[in-house]
Amino acid sequence: MNTVSTPQPNIVLFLVDDMGWQDTSEPFWTERTPFNDRYRTPNMERLARTGMKFTQAYACAVCSPTRVSLLTGLNAARHRVTNWTMVRDEARDAPSNELEFPEWNMNGICPDGSVPNTVQARCLPSYLAEAGYRTIHVGKAHFGASDTPGADPLNLGFEVNIAGHAAGGPGSYLSEQGFSGAWRQADLFWDIPDLEEYHDTGTFLTEALTLEAIRETKRAVADSKPFFLYMSHYAVHVPFAEDPRFIGRYLDEGLDHTEAMYAALLEGMDKSLGDILDMLEEQHVADDTIVIFMSDNGGLSAHGRGGEPHSHNKPLSSGKGSAHEGGIREPMIVRWPGVTEADTTCDDAVIIEDFLPSILEMAGTPDAARTDGISFVPQLRGERGCSRGRPLFWHFPNRWGPTGPGIGSYSSIRRDDWKLIYYHEPSRPERYELFNITEDIGETCNLAGKQPAVREELSSQLRDFLLSVDAQMPTDKQTGDAVPLP
Ligand code: CA
Repeated sequence: MNTVSTPQPNIVLFLVDDMGWQDTSEPFWTERTPFNDRYRTPNMERLARTGMKFTQAYACAVCSPTRVSLLTGLNAARHRVTNWTMVRDEARDAPSNELEFPEWNMNGICPDGSVPNTVQARCLPSYLAEAGYRTIHVGKAHFGASDTPGADPLNLGFEVNIAGHAAGGPGSYLSEQGFSGAWRQADLFWDIPDLEEYHDTGTFLTEALTLEAIRETKRAVADSKPFFLYMSHYAVHVPFAEDPRFIGRYLDEGLDHTEAMYAALLEGMDKSLGDILDMLEEQHVADDTIVIFMSDNGGLSAHGRGGEPHSHNKPLSSGKGSAHEGGIREPMIVRWPGVTEADTTCDDAVIIEDFLPSILEMAGTPDAARTDGISFVPQLRGERGCSRGRPLFWHFPNRWGPTGPGIGSYSSIRRDDWKLIYYHEPSRPERYELFNITEDIGETCNLAGKQPAVREELSSQLRDFLLSVDAQMPTDKQTGDAVPLP
């Protein structure tokens, strides 16, 4: 099936940061929600009308684990970059009175293994570059801690890198602030590199990244090179800022200032998507280009937002950092001209480590990688039910910081209708939560006590998986012993 003469489709991976499943005017649930009516993302609607929407696409609950799984095809329990990375040799775990956290891979990815506490793995762009692709990284990287090779996308197989480094958020969205965190007395660590020509031009960060991405993509087209554009927005991560192009309407509609900034960030992100889709058409490559839309974790809701905490992803419970659906379910759309049927929906569950085997299959590149993922290309070709019986796993032996529903140190499994969460904190009143996601998408009814057979079966499957990947567990400070497996 993989022959040298196979024409290679271009691939655009459009990745948004911290965007929730409901942060769009395109519904991903069985019914429209108030959030679908609040936000304006016409270009997501346009992509969905011409592509395939995935209603049960999953990532990890925070940034780095997702991004590392995306690039390596490995589950977080295996790659051990289980929490977010920042500065070399500094774990970002919030302190805990009862748990000691394991020595996880706090330095992120390091392909040559020269830095301790990293995952040594070959990355997606490296395979694609070898297959002849121009591999372009624009925007947020967040693959490795500062002062490690993995901080620089060029060390991971990208041929071009604009604005990607160790930081997981922007210093500022505003050109007047030089995209620097100086305005909030933040460390220079957060200053976005490479965009000096946009400083003080009034160009919002999302727009500057889009212009850069378009320029690099046109260059690849001019060079007749197949391209992999990893368009990775800093939006819609904090610190929110006013995007003057879009905020007025949301303020007029009565949204509070924070939520108006958030809605405008989303609309600016969506404009970027539209500009890239337009560019593909203008360059006459739209029919040869696969476009994949994804977010890296659920929408922020535990703090920093207007209104009630843990409510911003309704009908889902909770948000970023949570094992509940609000933390991990993502708006995903794929358009593969000639393969995906227009305006279709796929309810099969897929997860972030599936992207590497899927994209390599799209590129016609033999997959030599050891991967925990399964290609979703059959679903793109119209097959359904492929994920029936397949267990999906999450593992977070860490502490994010805020508290709320589903937020803690945990391991979890989703299989068919069910999700079981096992919390590591010994003091937690309910160590297990069992939800029927199909019937109770809001995770309101814990059935762990009422459905012991289901709980036991999933618990055993989760335990076997964690053992099989030699997953790290935290230590109970009181006993000095590792927290037992589920
Ligand atoms: Ca994120």
